[in-house]
Amino acid sequence: MSTPRRKPGYQTATIVSDKRETRDTRTLRLVPSEPFDWKTVQFIMVSAEIEGTVVSRAYSIASSPTKKDYLEITIKQTETPTMSKYLNEIPVGSTLQIKGPHGNFIWDETVSDKFFGIAAGSGITPFRAFMQYVIDKKLNVKFEVLYSSRYGDDVIYEQELRELIKQIPGGKYELSITRDTHGLDYARIGRINQEYLAEEIKGFEDGYFYLCGAPGFISSMIDDLTNLGIPRDHIKREQWS
Ligand SMILES: Cc1cc2nc3c(=O)[nH]c(=O)nc-3n(C[C@H](O)[C@H](O)[C@H](O)COP(=O)(O)OP(=O)(O)OC[C@H]3O[C@@H](n4cnc5c(N)ncnc54)[C@H](O)[C@@H]3O)c2cc1C
Repeated sequence: MSTPRRKPGYQTATIVSDKRETRDTRTLRLVPSEPFDWKTVQFIMVSAEIEGTVVSRAYSIASSPTKKDYLEITIKQTETPTMSKYLNEIPVGSTLQIKGPHGNFIWDETVSDKFFGIAAGSGITPFRAFMQYVIDKKLNVKFEVLYSSRYGDDVIYEQELRELIKQIPGGKYELSITRDTHGLDYARIGRINQEYLAEEIKGFEDGYFYLCGAPGFISSMIDDLTNLGIPRDHIKREQWS
């Protein structure tokens, strides 16, 4: 691992702590060297020199801007990784180059008091920040998150999200596992499909929908929601290609 070069628009951030979430997923807490402000949930670009090449990738800010002293990102190592392996291995105390904030996947409590989130895999990271934000701002909202994971042992933030959602009076968090629960026997088994959504979105029909995950998942959720009568302009998405 080499010391990252500084690119225009980037600033240095120090990794002050970490948490291993699953076998291939890690959360890093970063302290930027310069003032950094963002909205829930924007993303940063992280740049590092890896094996002689400068690599830049996007990561959603998985912590709420109500806690401004630091920001957190959660990185799942992919099957043919570059940056995601680097960030799963980089030691605490190291520095990264970050730029941002970017993106329009933004919570706006002025437009509604009903928010419905649907996430797959590592696409759960923004919803941790949404929950922290709702709690810290003491928002009086109806808020539900559906999270789909292939395997029980790949579920990110499982205990943490269950604790957070308890602090949101109108909150609900549901986990669906598509392959093997690995002991999370309370999880629903199966994919998030239109039939399941039809039940879950009752009462949210005029609310706002936030989707995060891989492109196939996002397009299938958009199809299901629009088939169920949700207007397209009430659906926001963060797509990870
Ligand atoms: C808005 C947004 C937010 C994201 N948030 C998270 C998050 O919170 N947690 C998380 O784990 N992942 C997140 N991702 C995915 C993340 O950006 C990386 O794609 C992932 O970590 C894999 O990167 P990699 O370098 O290990 O893999 P790679 O396979 O090397 O790269 C992954 C993707 O990056 C692109 N890419 C590869 N090489 C280049 C290049 N030279 N120039 C430009 N693009 C290239 C390609 O589209 C490739 O499919 C997010 C993506 C987006 C777009």
